Order: sequence, then structure tokens, then C-alpha cells
Amino acid sequence: MKARSLRKDKVNIITLGCSKNLVDSEVLSGQLRAHDVDVVHENRKRDHNIVVINTCGFIDKAKEESVNTILEQVELKKKGLLDKVYVTGCLSERYRESLAQEIPEVDAYFGTLELPLILKRFNADYKAELVGERLLGTPSHYAYLKISEGCNRTCSFCAIPLMRGKHVSRTRESLINEARKLVDGGVKEIMLIAQELTYYGLDIYKERALPDLMNDLADINGLEWIRLHYAYPSKFPLEIIDVMKQRPNICNYLDMPLQHASNAMLKAMKRQITREEMEELVGEIRSRIPDICLRTTLIAGFPGETRDDVEELKAFLVRQQFDRVGIFPYSHEEDTSAHELEDTLSREEKEARAEEIMEVQQEISLEKNMAKVGRTFRVLIDKKEAGRYLGRTEYDSVEVDNEVIVNSERNLKPGEFVQVNISKAYDYDLEGRVVD
Ligand code: SF4
Repeated sequence: MKARSLRKDKVNIITLGCSKNLVDSEVLSGQLRAHDVDVVHENRKRDHNIVVINTCGFIDKAKEESVNTILEQVELKKKGLLDKVYVTGCLSERYRESLAQEIPEVDAYFGTLELPLILKRFNADYKAELVGERLLGTPSHYAYLKISEGCNRTCSFCAIPLMRGKHVSRTRESLINEARKLVDGGVKEIMLIAQELTYYGLDIYKERALPDLMNDLADINGLEWIRLHYAYPSKFPLEIIDVMKQRPNICNYLDMPLQHASNAMLKAMKRQITREEMEELVGEIRSRIPDICLRTTLIAGFPGETRDDVEELKAFLVRQQFDRVGIFPYSHEEDTSAHELEDTLSREEKEARAEEIMEVQQEISLEKNMAKVGRTFRVLIDKKEAGRYLGRTEYDSVEVDNEVIVNSERNLKPGEFVQVNISKAYDYDLEGRVVD
């Protein structure tokens, strides 16, 4: 082990949780690399001697995964296979003191806004001029662009504002600059992310500036797809949909978490919207862009959720025919306002309800997929796996959505766009052959 300390340090960044965390890891690694630190993401070679774990503290399962990862890395340190273990991210922000007491072998814990302090550990200074210099943890043809941090909403179940603070938008200039750098580096698809996209600009420009930002980004040469994730439905600015319709490189895709459909649940969740208003909004969006792909996420088993509420949610899904749905069993998070309510359902019951609701969506998804058989779609190739290519249409985002299994006689490269004729439909995926 002594030989290790004679070698130059090599840092491995392990990222847990969502795409917003991944961007933070990419920014950290970009800063480290600029200071000549050897840094990698998710290193499989195990030739590193320092680990930074970027944790997630969103819900109970994510917290468990983060704690288990810390324990695993601490074990490696105890065996002499690592020199240092650092922990950052949401879990560390939220539970720093108790973590430090329970797992003291970690060399230091950092909060979500302490990038300069992490850099200090590597004798590096934070360089503001490096904003946008990220070492991507994704394949080189797509990247996330985090347009703001934090959230000013007060959804009763949500611990995110506790960990990420109030909403802070980045300036349009810095985002356009960063997007240009990403495209110059080979990125063809950018996914706009934030805790809440529609709030963009209200803090720094005193107006909702997402439509302007979308137009600016759509002007970037070589940027083929722009995709919107996480839009809050209450007071949704419909200009977003108009810009989407006007600009061909903004995907007809919107990820709008609705969380529930029963008015009692929406009220208890403090969502500031009713089922009727959500239905009206979905109808209006679809009337402006009929082929838009609507993704939503839901919560099953919120305190007080009755069987009637579940049935109402299922009926809502049948009526609204969302293209993509994700669902989380409710997690009773301390310091949220929902924590004052009685957590009425067991974990098993919440999971069973989530599964029951997803069964409804599975049928909808299969039907929608079957309607695509025989049609041809533009597909972005992501990777090759088991002799076949996997890609996505403009209606599918990375990891959370459907994939297209692509058969091709010729070699395809990740990042290449091809026309694919669909021949088979599965519950969530499609299969087809390249026709160009
Ligand atoms: S809008 Fe999203 S991030 Fe903000 S409080 Fe609600 S659920 Fe949490």
C-alpha cells in the first residue's frame, strides 16, 4: 500500500441520485481536471486512491443506497485500498452531523453548495471562469444543462428545498455559453433540468424567461435536440409550448410531474392545482401540439390516501393517456410539512399501490407503442448492446423512457441519427430496422 501514496492521486467520483447531481459531479471533475488532478467518473479499473461520493437524500431508498455506498467505500479505505473518502451532495447536506458521528472514517463531509471547500482538499481554487467546463459523465452525444438550483415551491412531501435551498437561476448568457461549449465538444442533445423549469428567470429577471432561453438555445448550430424536464403545472406558462412548436430542434416532449389526481391528495400535497385544472392544461398543451410526448411522475401512498383516491388516479391516467409515467411510493421525510401527517400506509402497501397504478399505464404504453408499428422515426443511437443498437426517438429521454432496439446491416455509431422503421412493439420499448 505504501507504493500507492508515491503515485499521483487519482480521484473517482461516484454519483448517486438524479441528473442534477450528475451535473454537479461533472462540474467538480471539470474544476479538478483544470487543476491537473487526475479524475474519473464511476471508475471500473479501481486504479484510483481517492473517492468522492455525491450522495442523494431524496427519499428513503435513495438514502439507503447512499449510506450503503459510503460504508462500502469506507471498508475499502480500512483495507488500505483507498487513501481518502469524501462525501458530498444532498444526503451530506441534510444529515452531515449524524453521518459524521456514525461514519467517522469519512475524511470530510460537504454540503451541496461547498464546491470551493472540496476543491481546497485538492489544493485547488474554485475558478468561476471555468463554468461550463464539465467532464461529462454521460456519453459524449448528450448532456444535461442545469438552468437553476433550488426550488421556491412548498410541496408538502418534498425535502428538496431543505437540501438545495431557494430557487437561483443561472444567467442566460452563462447557459448559452455552456451549451455552445457542449455542442462544440460533440453534444447533439441537451436536456434542460432544474427542480422546477417554469420558474426560470423569476428571481433574476423578474419574469419567466424559459421561452427566451429556449429560443436562444434553439439558435445554436449543431444542437439537434433540446428536451425539457420537470415543469411544475400550476400557472404553467403556455408560451413554452408555442416555442416548442415553432422550433424544430426543441423536442415535442414535456416532463411535467403531477404527483396525483385526486383533489384531496393534491390539496394535502400543497400542489396549488386541482385535477380539473390539470386536465384543462393537458388538453390545452395537446391542442397546441397534438403529437407531444407527455411524461409525468406520481406518488402512491401519500398520508391519508384512500382506495377512492387510487381509483381516481387510475381513471385519470386512462382519460389523459400520458405517454410516459414514473411513480414513487411515498417516503415520509422529516422536516417536510407532510411529516406532521400520520403516515397511514405500510411500505408494502405503498409499493403495491404504485405497482397497481403502473399496470394501468403499462396497457396504455403498449397500445401507444402498437400504434407506432409500421411507422418510421428519426432515432438517435445511444449504444450497442448484445449485438443490437439501442436508441431513442425525440419522444424518449435518457434512462427514464422507452428505447428503440435498432437492427442494422451497417455499423452505427453512438450519436448518429438514423431513420428506423418500427416492426415490433413491447410494453415500453420498440424494435425496428434502419431504412436509410
Ligand atoms: S416543485 Fe418539485 S422540487 Fe419544488 S417543492 Fe415541489 S416537488 Fe419539490
